[in-house]
Amino acid sequence: MTHRRIPPTSFGPDGTSTGSRHDDESEHGSDAVEGGERDDVVVDDEVADGRSERAKREPMTVRPLRDRRYVVETEGGTYVVALDAGTCSCPDHEIRGERCKHLRRVAIEVTEGRLPAPDERVGVCAVCGVETFVPLTASGPRLCPRHDFERGDAVHDRETGKLLIVTRVTERRADEYRTDEGRPIDEYPTNAVYGAHEPVIEAVYAESLGPAHGIDDARRYGFPASRLVPVTDAGRDR
Ligand SMILES: [Zn+2]
Ligand SMILES: [Zn+2]
Repeated sequence: MTHRRIPPTSFGPDGTSTGSRHDDESEHGSDAVEGGERDDVVVDDEVADGRSERAKREPMTVRPLRDRRYVVETEGGTYVVALDAGTCSCPDHEIRGERCKHLRRVAIEVTEGRLPAPDERVGVCAVCGVETFVPLTASGPRLCPRHDFERGDAVHDRETGKLLIVTRVTERRADEYRTDEGRPIDEYPTNAVYGAHEPVIEAVYAESLGPAHGIDDARRYGFPASRLVPVTDAGRDR
């Protein structure tokens, strides 16, 4: 008696209801479907075919290759996914043409920031060493979001305490970038404690700016990245 009372749909892993009423509702004209409802329909489709759940839950190891593709290792085999082409070497995709669980898993991991996108690779921040995703074509030293700068950022020079405005983040190392004197940035005594491998940040002194003298008119100076610190709100008040 108790066995009969449990409907099979209640065994879903996350307890979501997949009642049969949904099919009736989906007969309403698709013109009337709005953004939110439409998302629900898509999710239900994926739950129904099971690939989305398997993509999220099954043990898979995904590694980016050098050629924009990814290797996906599963208990059932090892496959190659091309995310931008939407293809996978598994039978589910190659024979049945489905958007398989491997493709879905790679898309999830890229979206959630655990894997580089096809046009990115894993790089290392020159200041803190943390892994960060960088453009595939980038060859010079890189910075993580925490240590990176943007044009227009106000920064302090750790050596002099002076206020500067960033004009450019270069991709050249401090031991490659030469000043007008022809001398590498890292050879200046004031730069001795900063990494020769760090990218050079170009900046102008705030005191050299004026109403008719913008950041493109002022004289630019190069600094190893970690010599400059962002001006915080507290710093601005001082
Ligand atoms: Zn696949
Ligand atoms: Zn960093």
